[in-house]
Order: sequence, then structure tokens, then C-alpha cells
Amino acid sequence: MSTEAPEPHVRASAALFDRARSVTPGGVNSPVRAFSAVGGTPRFMTGGAGAYLWDVDDNRYVDLVCSWGPMILGHAHPEVVAAVRRAAGDGLSFGTPTAGEVDLAEEIIRRVAPVQQVRLVNSGTEATMSAIRLARGFTGRTRIVKFAGCYHGHVDALLAEAGSGLATLGLPTTPGVTGAQAEDTIVLPYNDLDAVRAAFAEHGDTIAAVITEAAAGNMGAVAPVAGFNAGLREIATQHGALLVMDEVMTGFRVSGAGWHGVDGVAGDLYTFGKVMSGGLPAAAFGGRADVMARLAPSGPVYQAGTLSGNPVAVAAGLATLRAADESVYTALDANAARLGELFTESLTAASVPHRVQFAGNLVSVFFTEDPVVDYAGAKAAQTWRFPAFFHALLDHGVYAPPSAFEAWFVSAALDDEAFERIAAALVPAAAAAARAQEPA
Ligand code: PLP
Repeated sequence: MSTEAPEPHVRASAALFDRARSVTPGGVNSPVRAFSAVGGTPRFMTGGAGAYLWDVDDNRYVDLVCSWGPMILGHAHPEVVAAVRRAAGDGLSFGTPTAGEVDLAEEIIRRVAPVQQVRLVNSGTEATMSAIRLARGFTGRTRIVKFAGCYHGHVDALLAEAGSGLATLGLPTTPGVTGAQAEDTIVLPYNDLDAVRAAFAEHGDTIAAVITEAAAGNMGAVAPVAGFNAGLREIATQHGALLVMDEVMTGFRVSGAGWHGVDGVAGDLYTFGKVMSGGLPAAAFGGRADVMARLAPSGPVYQAGTLSGNPVAVAAGLATLRAADESVYTALDANAARLGELFTESLTAASVPHRVQFAGNLVSVFFTEDPVVDYAGAKAAQTWRFPAFFHALLDHGVYAPPSAFEAWFVSAALDDEAFERIAAALVPAAAAAARAQEPA
């Protein structure tokens, strides 16, 4: 329980957080929400519309988290809400196939050329876990290559040196993952093809798959350097391993076809979530038909889900994808660029060392002047400036990701008023970042 009286503008959130901590570990259902890395009171939200969120104390924020990616259209988009209402009115779950699942699978396949078959699941974690099992089942091999700083959900085999919440909390890995699971995972530096070649030279005939974020967003935005994804494709093919492109974050956000639409490199398997869920619990994995054919009931690799393809979640995802036309992607790109310019302007004016990075329309600001190409670079930045930067933004009505290791997510709903608020908030935020002191 808090000992200090909360400030008046967060009183209701603070009271809820106190209650939450007595019934839920850390008071939250996903670690980064707890503000552990930035301190202070997590805001309990009551609603969202367009580019804005409201909390229980009636504070209004421009939202630059967008539910960690899904809300590309902004909150409570009328077409998505109408589709969800219609679907809910028809019944919440049947445990049978429904037409919407076929429509959603067709929409994904239409957008991402290398994906020939799709299986719907409930979260990105389930998608990557299932893709890894399928890759092992298909190749008959055990080892998985992943990259430090890439997060693929809380799958046992994929938690080593993961970014996202583990980076935020400074955890190299987690208790509860057995030695055997960790041993089967080879963790390499991101953007380092020589390291990948060396790992394959040593273990090539036991590696089932390389899994990579198609563009890394979980150590901040770190795009693959030119030729990195293509190099992975080549090395995996040479050694008979599968390439799993994790597009949970980039999929249907950085272009209509996700990162595949940006660099054209074809994975064997893909994982999706976030945008294709419309904000409800839905995700997917898919890829080559011959690989997907190994999945039950067509093949022997088992995977299932009581609520997989849930009709309400499918309706939200389909409505989102159908509304996400070229104009939405143009707006997302323009909004990311505009946010990046505002970062540069404000931090330059305050003489804060910084580097604004993009991975498509994922944006990050790193407090360093060096280009960040991997997890070591992200960790070497002056992350201690981030809490002051974050809180000044929050106090001025801008909701940023509460961690220096996360990408910032724009929506197409950001308008001039929202950008004026961001620009105004960035002035005190840059000043606060400039004043921040490195802890002794
Ligand atoms: N893969 C990537 C690239 C992600 O960014 C995430 C979540 O942020 C996941 C997988 C896991 O998705 P979920 O949180 O839906 O389990």
C-alpha cells in the first residue's frame, strides 16, 4: 500500500492500484503496465475515443501506446464497434467453425503473399509458441535461433534476453524456464549475420528455425539493417531450417502487408496479433501450405483452442483490416514522421543527446547519439533520462509507453489538436530529460 497521499489528479487511479496490488501480483495483468521502470501511479483508463484516452480521475491523454499496437484506427472506431456489437448480438462463442474465421484467414492471406494457410489463436504468445512447435515438428529438429532484444511473447523457449517487459525490468531471463528449454535456444545479437553463420556452422543440422521480429520493436524501434532479413532467409534455406517472421507488432501496421510489404523477404512461417485482432484477444500464425499441413487435424503436430477464432474477436479484426486502406497507412507513416520531428526539435532545443529511430512507422527515441542496431546499443543509451521525460509528458496529457525499451505506436486518428498537445508537452519533457541525473 502507498504510504504517501497521492496527488489529487491521480487519486482514483492510486486507490485502484492499491486495491489491485492486494489481489493481483504487482497490481497489473501484464508487467509493463505497472510503471515499474518509470515510477509513479499507473493510470486506470475508463475509455478511449479516436486519439485520446481518459482515466478514472478524468484526465485526458493523447495515446501513443495504442494498446501496444492494435489500435491503428484510434479508439472506439465506429465501424469496428458496430461490427463487434453485431457479432456479440449473434452470440459470443460457439466452439464451431464460423464464416468470419474464413473471411479473416482470406484477408490475411490476400495481404501477405508468403502466407498460404492460417490458424487463428488467442494471443501473440500462442502464435509464436505454436509456430515453434510446428517448425520443430516439421523439421524433426530441436534448436531455435532468436535474437537478443527481440520479444516473442512469454513462450518458455523464447524468453532468453527478450526485450519488452524483461528489458524494462532488467531480467536476462526468468525462473520457471527449465535448463532444457533454455539450452535449445541459441540467442544471437540482432543484425549480426556473421553470428548467425557461425551458429549454423556449429549447430546447423539441429536448428529447426530462426525466429526474428520482422523489424524489432521490443528494444525500441530497431529496423533490420539492409540485407539482414534476406541473409537470414538464405542461411535458413541453406541449412534446411525454417524462417519464422514474427509480425505480431509490425503486421498490418507498418504497411497493409506488414514488414513483408516493406522488404519483401519471405518467411516460411509468420506470426500475427495486435492489429488483426482489432483490440480483442485474437492472433494467428500461418505460412507455407506444406508446413501448415503438418498441423492437426491435417497432420500430427497438435495445436488447439476453446476460444480460437472467437466470432466477436474475428469481427473486430476483420472490421479493422477492412477499414485499414491505403489512406490509413499513409496517415500512420505521416504521423510517425511528425512525431519523430517533434522529438528531434524539442530534444535538440534542450541539448539532450538523442537519436530518433524508425522501423516503418514504429518510432523510438533513444538517449544516445549512436545508431542503435542491437540490444547492447539500446541498453547502452542513457535510459535514466527516460522516467523524467515520460512523467513530464504524462503530466501534460500525453500517454507514452512507460519504458525506454518500447516502440511508440501512432494511430491514424492523431489530428492537429493531438499534435499540438504533443508538441507542447515535449517542451517540459525535453527539459526534464535534460535535468535528469544519472543514478550513482
Ligand atoms: N511477438 C511480438 C513481436 C510482440 O511484440 C508481442 C507482444 O508484444 C508478442 C509476440 C506476444 O504477443 P501477446 O502479448 O499477444 O502474447
